[in-house]
Amino acid sequence: MKVGILGGGQLARMIALAGYPLDVEFIVLDPSDDAGAVSLAEHLHGDYNDQTLLAELAEKVDVVTYEFENVPAEVAAFLAEHTQVYPAPNALAVSQDRLHEKEFFHQLDIPTAHYAAVSSLEDLQQAMEYIHYPAILKSRRMGYDGKGQVVLKSVEQLAEAWESVEKVDCVVEAFVNFQREVSIIATRRPNGEVVFYPLSENIHEKGILRVAECCIDDPLQKQAEEYVVKLLEALDYVGVIALELFDVNGTFIANEFAPRVHNSGHWTIEGAETSQFENHLRAILDLPLGSTQARGYTAMVNFIGGLPETKSILDIPHAHHHLYAKSARKGRKVAHATVRSDNKVQYTESLQHLIELAKSTDDS
Ligand code: AMP
Repeated sequence: MKVGILGGGQLARMIALAGYPLDVEFIVLDPSDDAGAVSLAEHLHGDYNDQTLLAELAEKVDVVTYEFENVPAEVAAFLAEHTQVYPAPNALAVSQDRLHEKEFFHQLDIPTAHYAAVSSLEDLQQAMEYIHYPAILKSRRMGYDGKGQVVLKSVEQLAEAWESVEKVDCVVEAFVNFQREVSIIATRRPNGEVVFYPLSENIHEKGILRVAECCIDDPLQKQAEEYVVKLLEALDYVGVIALELFDVNGTFIANEFAPRVHNSGHWTIEGAETSQFENHLRAILDLPLGSTQARGYTAMVNFIGGLPETKSILDIPHAHHHLYAKSARKGRKVAHATVRSDNKVQYTESLQHLIELAKSTDDS
């Protein structure tokens, strides 16, 4: 079987690594020379909207998937005319636009923060008459890791905030005072079979994920499963999806979803019986899905902008290191490490060590 991946970064790299034991081959389409997956796959080097390359990709593979959601939706639609594309392009289209995404959540009775569409400074001023401060102004498109976002604290700030998002179409939403941020990762097969991973509790700083920890037997697991299954069914979704949620006094408010494997699920490589990457492949190749059960206590720590010596990570008991073959640059995710143990005390100590190491080399 041959899988095409739009994007050749670390997510494609980890999908490819999960596919090797199943004898799956990969072709990645990526504009850069040194993307993390190119040493593991055939590389079609060029732009995402180069129709000659897209046609070549469609011709050579059984199914196309993507590793990031900012692939132009027209590209996924073009490919879908020539080959199987999973998840289907409509999931990509909804997730690419924060307004459509929020409207979609509402249609499905999945709660969100109060929000309003904003296309001008006047829209923003009007919306802030009924949305309370603090609030967040977010560009509708191309936002990730907190990019294209500004926190609004008072009416005096609105004009400057509107300039700072470069006057693009936005949503403004109420700031949610959550107790914790979690995500649920689920996988759906073409026949409708769904498996869910245990919730992941996620710590962000400066809008970037730092730590994701698997929550075993979380009391809100079922609520998250109910929400994500609504999304999966409404989108007739195939593959891995991640739904990010805010926990406010034991009730979830949806933030966003990602139609792909997700950074908050990297702990599943060592920490679950079947990783999110393998289950994504199983789903898009219509193979039986694997158990998502956690293997003990487990978490992941991201390395951003800088990296400690590999040895110092592997010195930590129960730690596993995952390098992305990327050069370090400010704010760039260059690696992650996971920790997994059946012993809670050892696990907690090792996780603490990893977090300290990540902080000591952080450049974000
Ligand atoms: P996003 O790009 O929407 O995932 O936002 C990045 C991070 O900003 C989230 O993971 C939260 O930590 C924070 N954030 C986003 N939206 C809100 C909100 N409405 N209220 C509070 N924090 C938020």
